[in-house]
Amino acid sequence: MRARFWGTRGSIPTPGQRTVRYGGNTACVEVRDARGSILVLDAGTGLRELGLHLAQKANGPLSLEMFLSHLHWDHIQGIPFFRPAYDPRTAIRIHAPAHAHPLKDLLGIGMDDPFFPVDLDAIPARLDIEEMPHDGVRDAGPFHVRSTLLYHPAPALAYRVEADGRSLVYATDTEDPFSGRENPVIALASGADCLIHDAQYQDDDYKKGWGHSTIASAVDVAARAGVRRLVLYHHDPDRSDDALDEIGKRAQELARERAGDLEVLVAYEGMELAL
Ligand SMILES: [Zn+2]
Ligand SMILES: [Zn+2]
Repeated sequence: MRARFWGTRGSIPTPGQRTVRYGGNTACVEVRDARGSILVLDAGTGLRELGLHLAQKANGPLSLEMFLSHLHWDHIQGIPFFRPAYDPRTAIRIHAPAHAHPLKDLLGIGMDDPFFPVDLDAIPARLDIEEMPHDGVRDAGPFHVRSTLLYHPAPALAYRVEADGRSLVYATDTEDPFSGRENPVIALASGADCLIHDAQYQDDDYKKGWGHSTIASAVDVAARAGVRRLVLYHHDPDRSDDALDEIGKRAQELARERAGDLEVLVAYEGMELAL
């Protein structure tokens, strides 16, 4: 299994000179198994670049599984700009947390007239939209996926993805380290090869109730779960490349003190991991 990061930023895209190296696109990670089956985690603006890449490389119809952590803008805004969605041969199965309203209606709101010229219903690709239980399992092609509900202002899920005997956990937009309840991410990530974790804040700019973790709490979760590798993700829009360099160094020191062999990486656009 391999993972490639197409968007690493939280909340809002941040193009500009200060964010060139880690990137300004919002949440999107591509996962592939050994045979090339594709699973996409979140559909932030990074999805646009992934779409261009897939459209270029495609030989034959594209079929992919897309798991959305939740419906906040920074996790869905790439959908209307996903090039393969405009090819009628493409099949996309979108999985997202269940809400009180039908998912299709909720996902379509941002594309309704007058907000966008193409309705979700008018997208040429075949779209299947399925509710993911808040604590459920699903087989998606060769991928076995497990979910757990996170502590966040909107229903949001973390996913554990397994294929090829490897495991990757995607836990963004989680304030669980500060929720006062048992943190479900620790059990979900237990023994995983890689944990991609929300790391929006530092200790001194943590905002209670905004639904995010700190860098130190992400390291703590990874240490408790006994994962091999932690990827800091969903960077604060105010965080510059230089600030993220510093954060990476400090987080690795923290990890060494906490759990000797835990490797910490700071996610950047284009980063590719073999799991
Ligand atoms: Zn977010
Ligand atoms: Zn969110």
